[in-house]
Amino acid sequence: MIELHDLTKRYGKTLAVDRLSFRVPQGVVTGFLGPNGAGKSTTMRMILDLDRPTAGRVTIDGRRYGQLSEPLKYIGALLEAKAVHPGRTARDHLLWLAQSNRIPTARVDEVLSLVGLTSVARKRARGFSLGMGQRLGIASALLGDPEIVMFDEPVNGLDPEGILWIRNLMKRLAGEGRTVFVSSHLMSEMAVTADHLVVIGKGRLLADMPMAEFIRHNSRSAVRLRTPHPERLLDVLAGGGIRPEPGPGGSYEVVDGDLAELGELAAAHGVVLHELSPQQASLEEAFMQMTADSVEYHAGANEGRDAADAGGAWGTGWQDRTARQPAARGTEEN
Ligand code: ADP
Ligand code: MG
Repeated sequence: MIELHDLTKRYGKTLAVDRLSFRVPQGVVTGFLGPNGAGKSTTMRMILDLDRPTAGRVTIDGRRYGQLSEPLKYIGALLEAKAVHPGRTARDHLLWLAQSNRIPTARVDEVLSLVGLTSVARKRARGFSLGMGQRLGIASALLGDPEIVMFDEPVNGLDPEGILWIRNLMKRLAGEGRTVFVSSHLMSEMAVTADHLVVIGKGRLLADMPMAEFIRHNSRSAVRLRTPHPERLLDVLAGGGIRPEPGPGGSYEVVDGDLAELGELAAAHGVVLHELSPQQASLEEAFMQMTADSVEYHAGANEGRDAADAGGAWGTGWQDRTARQPAARGTEEN
C-alpha cells in the first residue's frame, strides 16, 4: 500500500505538490488523473525517493522507499523519462537490474516473454520504437514480481494496439491482487482503465473516489426544452411537479427528465416546443470543469480565455457543464 501524508514539493516559486494525502488501495487499478503540470510525475518521483519532499511523507507498506532492501521486489515503476542506456540490449539492461536486486536470471527471460520482447531481447535499445521502449520499461517494473506497480502516462504516444495491451496488462496485474497506480492527463483513458480515481490539479487533491462513483456523480443526463412561450412551459412543468434549470439561450433543462414524458406533457397543454433534446455531460467535461482553475496554459491566450469562461471549480451548475463544447481545449498534446 502506498500512503501519502501531506506530501509537498516546492521548486522555487512553483508549488508542484501541495499537501497531498491519499492511499492507493490494493487489488485495483487506481488512476492518477490531472492536467499537464498538475504534479503527477513529481508525486511519483517522490514515492520512489528520486525527489525529496519539501514537507510531508510517503510510505510503501509503512516504509520509505530508501528503507526497502531490494526495492524492485516491493514496487516496480515505469516513469516518463527513459532510463535505458541506448547501447545496451534489452536483456542486458534487465540482467543488470536483476543483479542489483538479487533477482534470478530466469526471471529476466520470463518478463521479456511476458511483455513480448523475446525476439528482440538481444537488440540494442537505441533501435527500439516508443512502444518497444515502453514494453522494456514495463519488463523492468515487473522484474521483481512486486506487489505494487506504478506507471507514469504509460500509453502516451502509443498506437491503439499498444494502448490496449497496457490496459489489459494493468487489469490483469490488479486481478492478481497487486496495487496498480497509473497516471494520465486523459479522463477518457482513466474511464476505461481505472477502478479508483485520484484527481489532482496544481498539486492539490480534487477527488479521491471509486471510478463508478465519479461516473455516477458526473454523467447526469438532462432534457433540454426550448419554447417561444416560456411562462406557459414553466406553468405546465410546475403543474407536473417539475423544476427545470435555466439552460443556454433561454432554454430550460430538466435534470434526469424523461424525454417522451416531457414532450407529451407539453403537447397535452398545447405548448409549442422548438427544442426537445437529450443532454449528456461527458466525463471529460466533468474533469475539465473540476480542473479548470488549475490548468497551466502555455499554449495560447485563447485557451486561457476558454478556461475563464468555463466558470471554474467543481460544483458549478449543470448548465455550465452542458454548455461547454467538448474537446474545445488543446491540453491533449504534450
Ligand atoms: P505532471 O506530471 O502532472 O504533468 P509535473 O509533476 O511534471 O506535472 O510538474 C508539476 C509542476 O512542477 C510543473 O509546474 C512543473 O513545471 C514543475 N516541475 C516539475 N519538475 C520540476 C523540476 N525538476 N524543477 C522545477 N520545476 C519542476
Ligand atoms: Mg508527468
